Amino acid sequence: MLCGTQATARLIEVFSAIQGEGLNVGTRQIFIRFALCDLRCHFCDSFHTWAVPPQCQVEQTPGKRDFETYPNPVPLRSLLKWVDRQNQHRLHDSISLTGGEPLLHTPFLVECLPELRQLTGLPIYLETGGHRPEEMARLLPYLDSVGMDIKLPSVSGENRWAAHREFLKLCHNSSVEVFVKLIIDCHTDPTELEQSADLVAAVSAEIPVFLQPVTPLEGSGQPIVAPTPEQVLAWQALMKHSLKQVRVVPQTHKIIGQL
Ligand code: SF4
Repeated sequence: MLCGTQATARLIEVFSAIQGEGLNVGTRQIFIRFALCDLRCHFCDSFHTWAVPPQCQVEQTPGKRDFETYPNPVPLRSLLKWVDRQNQHRLHDSISLTGGEPLLHTPFLVECLPELRQLTGLPIYLETGGHRPEEMARLLPYLDSVGMDIKLPSVSGENRWAAHREFLKLCHNSSVEVFVKLIIDCHTDPTELEQSADLVAAVSAEIPVFLQPVTPLEGSGQPIVAPTPEQVLAWQALMKHSLKQVRVVPQTHKIIGQL
């Protein structure tokens, strides 16, 4: 949100942690988690991000979980101060923009990212549902890497094939590093995996693809159940017919008890 000349953001939290997904797995990042998401994936483990909370949580010391709360929306200057405090010598590999859907905050990010880069010198990584190509086009000049989802209708309940295609092409034709993540569960439809592989291969068979077995979730609706080992082996083989890099990586931050 832009208020006069003072940009403000609606945030969930700012903290330092070990990335548990995708190409940056195991690296240390400063996470900036934005509020709001326009999707409603069945497996969502971040539904607390769907609305804007009155306050956001800000870690005071990297990794200490000594959170303090501040009212939303947050002025750009405050966010820069919090990130600067996290940015201890050699500790972090990059900054992760996550959510929710960070691309819903594109006007703020256009203001924020050049300052963030100048302040920290750290690479900037964006995690997204991969369905908002127009916003992505505006942000590409300020990013180093992008992790985009392909939402499988049989798993997520979302159907975004056309937007994903355009989004991936846009990223691949830019200077950012891009990878694709697909959440799989025991009900995944293999024809959707073939369709995803074709979509990625039509842009480039070299783009890394991560199959992420869903982290089981008990909820009010149908329980979310991980795929069997046999399903995972078969589906990786299926996608490797047309793609060079298909890796299977679960959410490692959950395994090691990280945020
Ligand atoms: S895109 Fe991410 S935050 Fe949004 S509903 Fe899906 S899993 Fe949740």
